[in-house]
Formats: sequence, structure tokens, C-alpha cells
Amino acid sequence: MSNPIKAIVINKDDNNYSASLSSIKNSDLPNENVTIDVLYSTLNYKDGLAITGKGPVVRSFPMVPGIDLVGTVSHSTSDEFKSGDKVILNGFGVGEKHWGGLAQKAALNSDWLIPLPAGISPKQAMQVGTAGYTAMLSVIALEKQGITPDSGEVLVTGANGGVGSFAIYLLNQLGYNVTAATGRMEQSDYLKELGAANVINRDELSNPGKPLQKERFAAAIDSVGSHTLANICASLKYGGVVTACGLAQGMDLPGSVAPFILRGIRLIGIDSVMRPKADRIEAWDRLASLVAADYLDKISTEITLEQVIDNAEQLMKGKIRGRVVVNCQ
Ligand code: NDP
Repeated sequence: MSNPIKAIVINKDDNNYSASLSSIKNSDLPNENVTIDVLYSTLNYKDGLAITGKGPVVRSFPMVPGIDLVGTVSHSTSDEFKSGDKVILNGFGVGEKHWGGLAQKAALNSDWLIPLPAGISPKQAMQVGTAGYTAMLSVIALEKQGITPDSGEVLVTGANGGVGSFAIYLLNQLGYNVTAATGRMEQSDYLKELGAANVINRDELSNPGKPLQKERFAAAIDSVGSHTLANICASLKYGGVVTACGLAQGMDLPGSVAPFILRGIRLIGIDSVMRPKADRIEAWDRLASLVAADYLDKISTEITLEQVIDNAEQLMKGKIRGRVVVNCQ
């Protein structure tokens, strides 16, 4: 008989939404072609919403949350992966529609997995997680649009957030001149340590503004949306580029076409969840070469599966800073 598997399991019926650390069996795992011993997962905002039931993240019950995971293949009927391979997964509806990473084992579709690149450990991959991977996709998008360190000042919004802080770090590693926009000016020194040359108050961007403003930024990485994104478009230099991945301020985009038709600016959408495999591999290879171990240790804490539910509640109360890595073994 196989050993019981520890997993966070979310259940819902007419009256109750609950998450608990449970014991499941191998036969409970979904019918997928790769089974993994999960080494590490993470606790993202989305996982916090799923575990506490504060947001409609989970689409079917029972559900094992955890949108990121890294682990060792223990069984595979896929030609792509064999027993012993180390693999990473981010997104693809895992932890929402399909059982995710907050468990000792996971059964997953090989299409969702990529190999762990050389140069990054399993724990480091989860210290990076979806936040770092999304920031890397954003930086690559700017590069593909021809933005180089010589293009000029690059703005990063949501600077203290997961995506924003990684974007600052990565851009600085690549030699860009970074301006960080934040609502927490008291964190300016930290943002400068990450690599921001300049820190501005996010209030400068978050209110309704003119359709065309002074040309300032060569490019921007935005995880905020709403008026902030509209003001960024209005203040990009001629031919400038902004990537949009988030909606921390709002889902609306109350701007005008003026900067598009008069300054030829470009707005590039970033989705990490359904991203094709080749893009994922490229982003993780770049991350493995750019991210330093001491930075990752500084921005993350490690917890166990036993501590997940309590930490999810703290996360929803805004009491946790930085990345939370979950040791699943
Ligand atoms: P975090 O919650 O870690 O960070 C968001 C940051 O945005 C905050 O730290 C804050 O930064 C800033 N912010 C919060 N509220 C406001 C506001 N009202 N106005 C302006 N700025 C605000 O989130 P993540 O970094 O993990 O994610 C950022 C966004 O990107 C989210 O909307 C998330 O859903 C989305 N996302 C999208 C992905 C995709 O595939 N497209 C993948 C990952 C995330 P500060 O305190 O410095 O002002």
C-alpha cells in the first residue's frame, strides 16, 4: 500500500468553504501522464484568495491549490519526461481548474511542464515563482520591441509588489536606468537597493491625466492598469513601449488613442498563465542566468505545508512581505 500524501485540500458545499491540510491517496490524484514528487511550491496572492475563499479562484472542488511548483518526476508515460527529471510548472489553470502544487505529490499534464534549467536550484525556482517569471516575460517583451539600455528611462509600477520588484531587479541587472513608482515612499531605500535609480510617488500616475503629457519614459513595465497605465501611455517618448500584466489599481483603461496615433507608442499585453512552452523555456533560461542567490534569499521566506493555511490568512491581511516558498516534503 502506498504512503498517504499530505495536501492542502479545498472543499465547498452549499453552506461551507473550507481548506485543510489533509491526507490523500495516490488513487485520489488526477489521471494525468506525469506524476511528480513536489519539492517546493509557493504562496501567491491567487493562492491566498483560493485558500481563504476571498476570491472566486477555484473552479471545481475538491481542489488542491498552488499555481507554482517544482519537483522530481516519479512516474511518466510522456516521451518528454522520465523518472528523476526536475520540472517546473507555472499557471495553466493549475491550482484553479487542475490540482496544484501545495501537496507532496502532483499528477500533471506533460504539456504544462518545462525542465528546470541548469544554474537554478528547485528552491530558487520557487523563490522566483510566477512573479519573477512574469517580470522576465515583461522584460523580454521590451527587448523584442527593440528597447535597450540606451533607449532611456524605464518605469516600473507596483514597485514593491512581486512582479514590480523582480522587474526592477532584472532591468538593473541588464543595465537599464530604472524609475520605480510606489505608494510606499518609505521603502525607497529598499527599491534603490534592488536597482532603481529613481523612485517616484505612484500618486503622480494614479489620477486622471491629459491624453498627451511631457515625453519622459522610453519604456515601462506596468502591473497596475487603470489611470496609471493611461498616464504611462501619455508620457512615453515617441515610439515608446509599455507592457501590461496586472490590474492592482483597476481593470479599466481610461485613456485615449492620442499617444498611439501621434507618438506611435506600443502597448504589449503579458499573460503568463497560458504562455506557450517555448516562451516559458526562454524566460526560465534567462532567469537562471540573471538572478543571484543572495537576492532570492533576501526577498523570500520558507514555510512548510503545515503553515500554509495560517500564512494564507496573513497574506490576505497584507501582513506578509516578499515571496513565500513552501517546502512540500
Ligand atoms: P502584489 O500584490 O505583490 O503587488 C502589487 C503592487 O501594486 C503593490 O505592491 C503596490 O505597490 C501596487 N498597488 C497596489 N494597489 C495599488 C493601487 N490602487 N494603485 C497603484 N498601485 C497599487 O501583486 P503582484 O506583483 O504579484 O501582481 C501584480 C499584478 O499583476 C496583479 O494585478 C496580478 O493579478 C497581476 N499578475 C498577472 C500575471 C499575468 O499573467 N498577467 C501574472 C502575475 C501577476 P507599491 O506598494 O509599491 O505601490
